[in-house]
Amino acid sequence: MSKIGFIGLGIMGKPMAKNLVRAGHQLVVFDVVETAVQTLVSDGASRAASPREIAEQSDDFIVTMLPNSPHVREVVAGKNGLLEGVRRGQTLIDMSSIAPLVSRELNALLAEKGVDMLDAPVSGGQEKAEKGTLAIMVGGREAAFDKARPVLEKMGASVIRVGESGAGQITKLVNQTIVAVNIAAAAEGMSLAEKAGVDPRRVFDAIRKGLAGSQCLEDKAPRMFEGRYEPGFRVGLHIKDLNNILETGHALHNAMPLSAQVMEMMQNLANNGYEALDHGALGLYYEKLNGISLKK
Ligand code: NAD
Repeated sequence: MSKIGFIGLGIMGKPMAKNLVRAGHQLVVFDVVETAVQTLVSDGASRAASPREIAEQSDDFIVTMLPNSPHVREVVAGKNGLLEGVRRGQTLIDMSSIAPLVSRELNALLAEKGVDMLDAPVSGGQEKAEKGTLAIMVGGREAAFDKARPVLEKMGASVIRVGESGAGQITKLVNQTIVAVNIAAAAEGMSLAEKAGVDPRRVFDAIRKGLAGSQCLEDKAPRMFEGRYEPGFRVGLHIKDLNNILETGHALHNAMPLSAQVMEMMQNLANNGYEALDHGALGLYYEKLNGISLKK
């Protein structure tokens, strides 16, 4: 099976890369953190000294799973970056959640070298990354998507091409808007229950199968009742996504008042030292706002 380059072996990238090894691919990996590289090397991957070397040593595909736009830009277009080592016919699959405009800009740079780029951000978190059951939303040329699909299916249970370059990142921003507002709504509702002297856990049981039920409510309400805010998806990462959401919305004059509100709540959480907690910590924001405790 072909040799795949993999850059970015963090919370998500590490298990995703492991799934590719498990599926029988040879992997060549790079991360700025040595311990992350070491784990994959003990699983049989080889290491490269830079993104340029990753491009030189990979066959058809290079996967990136990095924090945000500046990191992907650096890896692609920086010194010793992918652009210095890629060959015509290769495809970069960027699975990081980044600004759609940056994704399109890098897509254009790579296209000049005859290299396709798919933006393929994911939803699902560490557990689904480990199980290989992520939801993957893809933007890019249809022919490149068709070629990359078997690789993506080793990391995700749902792999859907939404449109041309940037469409995958736009889809991820839509996802992150809906999730942020949903968690804030859950916390706001539970705060009202508590303040009114009605047990939020009974309220949760009474409403979860109705129209207010959602995967967000199922995952986050019990966390609020148990005061369990280990990540999960960190507040700091959601602030990064909300920043990309609001910037993209502003560029298009698409008003997003709810996203803006939740952004301010998350800034408050970060300011109180909760940046590394799960975004379910919006429960803590409402606890402080209304002088209540949701923890039972
Ligand atoms: P992470 O911070 O755990 O991992 C990022 C990795 O990239 C780190 O190992 C870091 O050392 C490496 N890195 C940073 N700059 C680099 C560079 N210039 N060259 C090489 N390596 C570099 O982040 P994560 O939680 O794995 O998230 C990755 C992406 O996936 C983010 O865009 C995030 O928004 C998205 N995402 C995360 C989750 C989640 O639950 N954690 C869920 C869905 C999507």
